[in-house]
Amino acid sequence: MPESIPIATTQEPGVHPSEDVGSPPKSPKSQFSKHILLTTYPGQNGVDPVPLQWGAADAKSRGPIVASRHPSQLKRRNAMGAHGGSYSIYNALAIAAGDLPTDFKPDFNNTEPTFDFPQQPAWSDPKKIVSLDPFGHDIVKQFKSYLDVGWDLRPSMAITRANMRLAEIEKAVSEGQIEVDGSIVVDKNGDVRVTKVAVEPVWYLPGVAERFGVDEGTLRRTLFEHTGGSYPELITRPDLKVFLPPIGGLTVYIFGPPERVSDENVRLALRIHDECNGSDVFQSDICTCRPYLAFGIQEAIKEAQNGGSGVVIYFRKEGRALGEVVKYLVYNARKRGGDTADKYFLRTENIAGVRDMRFQALMPDILHWLGIKKIDRMLSMSNMKHDAIVAQGIKILERVPIPEEMIPQDSRVEIDAKINAGYFTTGKKFTMEELAQVKGRGWEKWEDVTH
Ligand SMILES: [Zn+2]
Repeated sequence: MPESIPIATTQEPGVHPSEDVGSPPKSPKSQFSKHILLTTYPGQNGVDPVPLQWGAADAKSRGPIVASRHPSQLKRRNAMGAHGGSYSIYNALAIAAGDLPTDFKPDFNNTEPTFDFPQQPAWSDPKKIVSLDPFGHDIVKQFKSYLDVGWDLRPSMAITRANMRLAEIEKAVSEGQIEVDGSIVVDKNGDVRVTKVAVEPVWYLPGVAERFGVDEGTLRRTLFEHTGGSYPELITRPDLKVFLPPIGGLTVYIFGPPERVSDENVRLALRIHDECNGSDVFQSDICTCRPYLAFGIQEAIKEAQNGGSGVVIYFRKEGRALGEVVKYLVYNARKRGGDTADKYFLRTENIAGVRDMRFQALMPDILHWLGIKKIDRMLSMSNMKHDAIVAQGIKILERVPIPEEMIPQDSRVEIDAKINAGYFTTGKKFTMEELAQVKGRGWEKWEDVTH
């Protein structure tokens, strides 16, 4: 460990920790300090963030992400926000309810990754990864000396393995479209082996601002104002560059040996999928999400079985990141207003102000983390995803639309409107006049039932 990195905690704010300081102080009787520290300022008594150099060559020279507001760490934090994304609120509730002590420290024994992803050049490139901690899966090993003396550090990534079973894959196996190889597809029931990587967002604000083409000050002020003023240090601590936003993360599903993912010499089939709970899980037929996801998984499996690699990445960006409430309002406006494809985007714009808030600019970070340099088969028709990936210097060799026969009838409104708006297709592109003729299912029969 380099000498410049402090490794122990401190009894008193402002005192530099050293290796022989020992454990952090005992928790006070009350879970809170007497004075509520609403925010901190650079240069304030005791404020001394643990050095953090985003984009440094390795984890130890980069430094740990320190986000805890535990009294022993409050003034040594180098990150704003809290671990867990949106689940940080449930963590707070558990503490409020008395179920979880404020100074709880996890036991990370046996939690290490099931696959040791090799470090990629992008992990130490401050421009290529700006929205996740590239060492977030490895903090137990990299920052053991901190954990050993009581620092509260948390992994922001976790890597595991599992068997999964999907009805569509089971069917494809039973019909002989996918073979049982005993390794990737384990048996005739369609059980599939997969390596999974869960990732929580960790934002390096200068890099995020740059991706969106705004200055860091504007990004900070906007995040502060439009989270109800929840994160005052966005304003008072310009020296803190890392923010853990209260949003959902992503999961990587890797089919075949995970070491192949970064190997440029083997083929890669990839789907980037944004969450659509109604279709993905409950199989609503108003959109193509679940069919395209199943197709993506099927093609990923086939590519892995052919000696290549298959990856599906699932982002928690429900309803184009507008959320389900807005989504259902849009559904109602569509169905009551005459559900035609020419008005598809207008219905969303009327309610949300924009047609899409997914902003794919940060999405390619995970591809860089995995070491992906080219995609042989991109299982997506989205021009936004395509353009964001290509803008990051990752080549896309072939784009694969969802097969016609997998498109549910009621989802023609969505898919035809998207194709007209620039989605990739090898099939027909409709004019606005033709789109006016593409109509979704009405509610007439439903209303008959309720009367
Ligand atoms: Zn959907």
